[in-house]
Amino acid sequence: PFDILVVGGGPAGASAAIYAARKGLRTGIAAERFGGQVKDTLGIENFITVRYTEGPKLAANLEEHVKEYPIDVMKLQRGRRLEKKELIEVELESGAVLKSKAVIISTGARWRNIGVPGEAEFKNKGVAYCPHCDGPIFKGKPVAVIGGGNSGIEAAIDLAGIVEHVTVLEFLPELKADVVLQQRLYSLPNVTVLKNVQTKEITGTDKVNGLSYIDRSTGDIHHLELQGVFILIGLIPNTDWLDGTVERNQCGEIIVDSRGATNVPGVFAAGDCTTAPYKQIIIAMGSGANAALGAFDYLIRN
Ligand code: FAD
Repeated sequence: PFDILVVGGGPAGASAAIYAARKGLRTGIAAERFGGQVKDTLGIENFITVRYTEGPKLAANLEEHVKEYPIDVMKLQRGRRLEKKELIEVELESGAVLKSKAVIISTGARWRNIGVPGEAEFKNKGVAYCPHCDGPIFKGKPVAVIGGGNSGIEAAIDLAGIVEHVTVLEFLPELKADVVLQQRLYSLPNVTVLKNVQTKEITGTDKVNGLSYIDRSTGDIHHLELQGVFILIGLIPNTDWLDGTVERNQCGEIIVDSRGATNVPGVFAAGDCTTAPYKQIIIAMGSGANAALGAFDYLIRN
């Protein structure tokens, strides 16, 4: 069996595995897609000490760093069940069962897609999901934010300080965000809010040039000229496979304490799959290191 088995191979998982291996622990890492969300990212400018990198390059660097250590890397492996017996058992989709004294879950999350024409086509070409990451790219340009919940309104407020103009599109007749956020939003001079509208299409040629939407009260179709569209309709943690075992909040995020421990003794979690409020590479890496040290602490006491 492993001392520490990491499930998930994004920034959090890679960092956890390296920290575990550096303690001389027998470490394994099982991941569906090594590199995680980083693989889908174009430019990265906020990974501190690295002025600019690109997702595939950072993903390759993660793997290279992991390979410096005697870590058992199991790629293309998806966990489907976790059970605490004498050891912790993780069953993979392949049917194989991995056993470990401690497990670190770092299965990440995925942005909810809106599923309209143009979304996939213009991803990284004007379609964005993360204002902290991509906001500065749209400096001085008109953008839209799709989604009137807390994350959408926070994004709109954030972007309004950088871009020329922000149009918020909300499907329902009212915004769902907290009232304080709405008040702040409405106090800004360069924001327009469209409610009861449905995004029909994101338009463009080689990159985004606008968006068509349906006014749900009249059925009329309108077009906005834009250079960026931020889609903020929810982040879905990849934690379904933990049903009935590891405690999660209403959004499906794994509840962890300050050491990354979950409600199941010996099971830790890190990164975007947890209740950590901000989902960023540097934060995921930090929490992976934290969970590995938490797991190490657990192992020397048990
Ligand atoms: P992920 O990166 O999501 O990795 C999860 C890992 O778990 C993957 O290996 C996945 O295949 C695996 N996995 C999932 N389910 C299972 C399962 N059941 N069994 C086994 N393995 C599983 N952050 C920044 O800091 N700067 C940026 O510029 C930036 N830009 C971004 C751009 C885009 C388009 C996206 C989508 C995200 C961006 N982010 C950025 C956010 C950043 O990528 C994430 O915060 C970070 O990758 C989270 O790391 P993680 O390890 O927690 O999860």
